Parts: sequence; structure tokens; C-alpha cells
Amino acid sequence: MKPAAIPGLISGIEPGSPAEAAGIEAGDQLIEIDGQVPRDAVDVQFYGAGELVTVQLRKANGLIDVIEFEKDYDADLGLQFESATWDGIQLCNNNCFFCFLKGLPRGMRKSLYIKDDDYRLSFLHGNFVTLTNLTEDDWARLEEQRLSPLNVSVHASELGLRRKMLSNRTAPDVLEQLRRLGELGIQAHTQIVLCPGVNDGEHLDRSLADLAALHPIVQTISVVPVGASPKLEEWSLRKDGIEVATASPEYAAAVVQSVTAVQKASRKAFGRSVAQCSDEFYIRANIRVPGRIAYDGLPQYENGIGMVRVLLDDWHRTRSQLRRHPVNLEGRSIVVASGTLAAPVLAAVAEELASLTGIGVEVVGVANSVFGDRVNVSGLVCGEDWAKAVAGTDADTVFLPRHSLDYFGEQFLDGLKPSELSARVGRPVAFASQWSEVVDMLLHGSSPPARTRATNGAMWSEPLPANVVA
Ligand code: SF4
Repeated sequence: MKPAAIPGLISGIEPGSPAEAAGIEAGDQLIEIDGQVPRDAVDVQFYGAGELVTVQLRKANGLIDVIEFEKDYDADLGLQFESATWDGIQLCNNNCFFCFLKGLPRGMRKSLYIKDDDYRLSFLHGNFVTLTNLTEDDWARLEEQRLSPLNVSVHASELGLRRKMLSNRTAPDVLEQLRRLGELGIQAHTQIVLCPGVNDGEHLDRSLADLAALHPIVQTISVVPVGASPKLEEWSLRKDGIEVATASPEYAAAVVQSVTAVQKASRKAFGRSVAQCSDEFYIRANIRVPGRIAYDGLPQYENGIGMVRVLLDDWHRTRSQLRRHPVNLEGRSIVVASGTLAAPVLAAVAEELASLTGIGVEVVGVANSVFGDRVNVSGLVCGEDWAKAVAGTDADTVFLPRHSLDYFGEQFLDGLKPSELSARVGRPVAFASQWSEVVDMLLHGSSPPARTRATNGAMWSEPLPANVVA
């Protein structure tokens, strides 16, 4: 367990929430909720689900206050906490050869170094867990509070292969664990981190088949490529004798084919695709990403599953609107930066936007100097790399992907703040997830608030400063 934070310390209140209406304030410490001492934010949700809620608070001046208030059943209280768990974080008991943390350079955000494997964070924030560290007390809590869905890292359904990948000789059979979750009424979104030469080929096909057979307990199965920094590559070769290889276009095409076959069979059997392929495999294989139906409502969007489809659908709607209601942005110019993987997709859209509106759009694919060129997604590009890549531009505004920032949109991976980056670049830096947000900010300069409860990767953007509003 990682050491605990101040139990129940409230860091923020959602505007318009029941907590705000009840007069609860940031800085208050939640001591009891409905007569229970909460251990974490999961308990707050569980005990605060009813229509009549009583909370005991220690106010900033040390006085104890008891507040009773009404709300809709299951409505979120609107409390934000300094930390989601107050009795520590359950840590991982595995030692995967492909563990991201082994390749993590020094100097990143502190939270990145925590090797968490905590089912509560899976329920609250969608973190992937392996279920290898669950005690019978944890199972009892899962049953009592029915924490569903959980995100589960499977990697391989064969027990021996999974144990080898996790480097954990006592890891339980994940298929049995998933069935047990199902008996408790808990569903799972699963992922397979695909390591060429290790869990691919017939192993992948077997894992896909085994997991799809557990639908609806297993809601989705994502297949995502292993990401490896030069440090991790070197480590896994030296320590484990395993080469963490990059997917070639042919390899990526074979993965897409395997997943597509399971999607077709699952749609026939269950009316859902169930299996889903990382955007990266489609891009690497130069295969068009499938339509929305392949993504079953996009539950694994933040895992890089369907981001390109959402981006293209959003652009197609925006393009239709611009055709119906033309706007003239001649004389304006923007830079849109992303990781190198998505840059070609963005460049094609940028060309269309430029020809429709007259705006100058430069797309910059930013290489990752910290994790190495093979780590090509925007979410792992550090502030320093963004700053270097867009320095010297004379565009009006620089747009960066929202998911290059942390959960609340406050800092990059290396701790650089958006305001610091903007000062370094000498021009406004705005953040968006979709082209419609870019166009909206260019036209109106308005957007949702900068700090929201929306998780990283969800629709979110920061307001443009007034001086760049058209
Ligand atoms: S499960 Fe594996 S990849 Fe995840 S934190 Fe543990 S060792 Fe790292």
C-alpha cells in the first residue's frame, strides 16, 4: 500500500451540485457519511447514493458541522477529494517485462511512478487492474458494493502465458476471476497488451475467443500495442531476454484481421462487436478505421480505441456545417500539434479546413525525445517536447491535444504547466479534443470550463484568451 492522504479532505465542489447547495466547501474534511466513516471515494458514492444524506464535516476552523440534505437517488454529490483513497493505494504485485514504469525517465509527474493495481481506482477512474492482488476482503467488498464495471488487464487467457507475462507465478486464472465477477453482477472491460512474438498469433486468437465467450461479463476486449521506450527495450532484452518489437504494417494488418473476425462473430451472436482494435493498428496498417458500430459506445476511448473514428465523425459534422454556413478566416493562422501517430490523420483534416475557411493550418507531428520515437501517441509527449516543436511559430494560436495534459488539465507529463508553455512559445496555447472545438474557439473563443470532472481524453477544451477571439 502507498501511504495515505489526509482522509476525506475535500479539494473541490462541483458547481451546481447537491454538495454546493448544502454549503459544503473545499477544505472541509468529510468525517462521516450516513453514519459510516468512509475509507475512500467509493464509500462516499456508496453511502451517499440515497435521497437523504447526512454528512459530518470538520471545517477549516476545526469545528464539527453536521449537514443533512436531499438529492435525487444516485445523483453524484459533487465532492472532489485530494485523493481518491485514504487508506493508501493497492500496489501491483507483478513484474511485467513490458511494464511502462521500467522505461519511465526521472523527473515526470510523481503520480506516474506509482505502480497501482487498485480495483477501486479501476471503478472510479478506469485504471486497468490485473486482479492478482485481491484478498477475500476485497472480494467481499466487490460483492457488497457491486463495483461495476472494472477494467481488467488480461494480456493472455492461458494461465501459464499470463503468469509469464506478469512475471507472477501465483497469478490466479483470470477467466475464473472474470466468471466470479460475473456471479457478483460485475462486468469488465478487458485489454490485451500485444507483445509481438509473445502473446500474438494463436495466443491472441485464443484469448479473444476465451474472453468473447464470457460476454456479457466481458463487455469489451481491446487489443493495444505494447509501447516501449529505448530504456524499456534495453531492459526487457537484458533482463528478460524478450525483444519488445514494434508492429510492422503487415503485423498490424494481421491483428486487425483477427479482431475483425471476432467482431463479426460477436455481432452475429450478441449484437455487439465486443472485440476492439487500437487506432494505432489501423493507422500502421493503413486500413480505414471502422464505423461507430465497431466500438460498442466507446467504453475504451481513453485507451486509444475509437479516438480516430470520433475525430473523423466530428470533423464530418463540422465540415457539413461549414459548407452550410461558410466562414471566412483568411489572415488567421494556427498550428495544430500532435504525437507523430495521429499527425497524418490531422493533416488531411487540416487541408480541408484550410480550403473551406481560408485559414492557414500547419500540423506538427511531435517526436517524443523522452520515451523515444516509438512512443508516438500525444498522451505521452512531454511539455518540453511540445515547447520545442512549436517554438518559433508565428501562427496566432497553438492547439494541442487535450489528453497531453493530466486528468484535470493542469500539467503535462513532466509537470510543465500550460501557462508556462504559452509563455515559452510567446503566444496563446489552447487545448482541444475535436476539430469542432478548434473551429468553435476560433469563431467564438468560448468553451467549457478549464477544470472539469471530465476525465482525460473526454470532450474538453480551454478558453482562448480574449485577444485571439475572432
Ligand atoms: S501489472 Fe505489469 S505493467 Fe502493470 S504496473 Fe504491474 S508490472 Fe507494470
